[in-house]
This record gives sequence, structure tokens and C-alpha cells, in this order.
Amino acid sequence: MRLVLVGPPGAGKGTQAEFVASTLSIPKISTGDIFRANVSQGTPLGIEAKRYMDAGGLVPDEVTINMVRGRLAEADAADGFLLDGFPRTVPQAEALDKMLGDEGVALDLVMELVVEFDEVIRRLSGRRNCHGCKKIWHVEFDRPTKDGVCDNCGGDLYQRDDDKPETIAERLRVYERDTAPLVDYYGAQGKLVGIDATGPVEDVTARAMEALRSFGS
Ligand code: ADP
Ligand code: AMP
Repeated sequence: MRLVLVGPPGAGKGTQAEFVASTLSIPKISTGDIFRANVSQGTPLGIEAKRYMDAGGLVPDEVTINMVRGRLAEADAADGFLLDGFPRTVPQAEALDKMLGDEGVALDLVMELVVEFDEVIRRLSGRRNCHGCKKIWHVEFDRPTKDGVCDNCGGDLYQRDDDKPETIAERLRVYERDTAPLVDYYGAQGKLVGIDATGPVEDVTARAMEALRSFGS
């Protein structure tokens, strides 16, 4: 399966991607994770990306597309993948279609996580990420047993720099302007399925898995 998850920042893409990708035994490819890894390693890509990320903006299409092209060329993505956070603009979606088309393949399904902005603001404001295993927590909705410590691996939890209120507001503006048009783009291709992303994590997962089952049958 070649899948894409779209939705506003904080909709729960990373949370759902982890489960869906491992259930389907396909790699989860998160452009945000790849950029953050580059930022923490201080690579030239990381240094460039950080400027945009800290401001709540998007890394330029050309840089992002080249990075994804490289990642999709790796062996583990040959038979399927779940993209989380890419594409985020119509030119990125067009480039992805072209990349896959050149290989004689195509996306199977695009799952849109649908949730109101008020709720994503609550989710982003309380998000905590593990330095170690990268698991995503929430101070209220998905609390670790001990504050600031990951139950999974014992790693320290941190708040992303771009989860500050001013940056959240800008990221939502950018989503509305640059990313929301993907709903029409993939809708026109007949590949879009909307998933109600409200309620407990497990309920959203169940809806996503049901959408995948309906697609397969
Ligand atoms: P995205 O990848 O779309 O930006 P995340 O998966 O990082 O979103 O989720 C954002 C925050 O919301 C995290 O702190 C996560 O624990 C929390 N979260 C995810 N799904 C739900 C849900 N269904 N209900 C409440 N909180 C959620
Ligand atoms: P995320 O982890 O998906 O919330 O992404 C964090 C940040 O990385 C975004 O706010 C952007 O600055 C950058 N980013 C991630 N994916 C993309 C993309 N497809 N295009 C441009 N910028 C991206």
C-alpha cells in the first residue's frame, strides 16, 4: 500500500501513522521527523530547514521534494509506505505523482484526519515528544506515568519549539492556505477518504483501519 496522511498540524497524523504503518508492515515516512533529525545533527539540510520550522512556515518545495525522492528510493519503500506530513502543498503532490508515475506505480489512498482547529490547538499545546524513541505523548490526553519521562524507553520528553502559541497560529494559517487545497486535489483523483479524528486515539485508529479495509475490498 502507498498511503498518505493529511490533516492540520496536531490532527494526530504521527500518532496514527505509527500504528497503521506497523500494522501494515510498511515504513512510516515523516518529513517532520526527518527534518528534526537533521536539525539535531546540525546537517546543512537541518540548518536550512530550521529557519522555516521555527517560524511555523514550510521548508521550500524543492528542498522537501528532493529529500522525499531520496527517501522513497530506499529499498524499504519499494513495495509501500505511509507518508506523514508530505505532501503539504499542491506542487509537492504533483511532484509525488510524477515520481511514482515514473516508477509505474501510484498512490492507493489518502486519508484526511478531520478535526476542528480548537481541538488541534489543545493537542499541540500539550504535545510532548520523546528524545529517545520519538513516541508522541500529551500532558492531558496521553499522559506518561511519570511526568517528563517516556513509559516506552525511559527517555526524556520535550516540547517541540514549534508548539509554542505564536508558532501554532502561524502553522494553522499556513495549513489553511497551502495544505488544505490537497483535499480538492486528491478528491478529484478519487483517492481521498475523510476520517473523523475526534475522540480517543483508539477510536480514530479503528476508523482509519476500517477505511483501509473498505478500500481493499
Ligand atoms: P500531527 O502529527 O498531526 O501533528 P500528533 O500525532 O503529533 O499530530 O498529535 C498531536 C498531539 O495530540 C499529541 O500530543 C498526541 O498525543 C495528541 N493526540 C493525538 N491523537 C489524539 C486524540 N485522538 N485525542 C487526543 N489527543 C490526541
Ligand atoms: P510536522 O512534524 O509534520 O509537524 O512538521 C514540522 C515542520 O517541518 C513543519 O512545520 C514544516 O516547517 C516542516 N515540514 C514538514 N514536512 C514538510 C513538507 N512536506 N513541506 C514543507 N515543510 C515541511
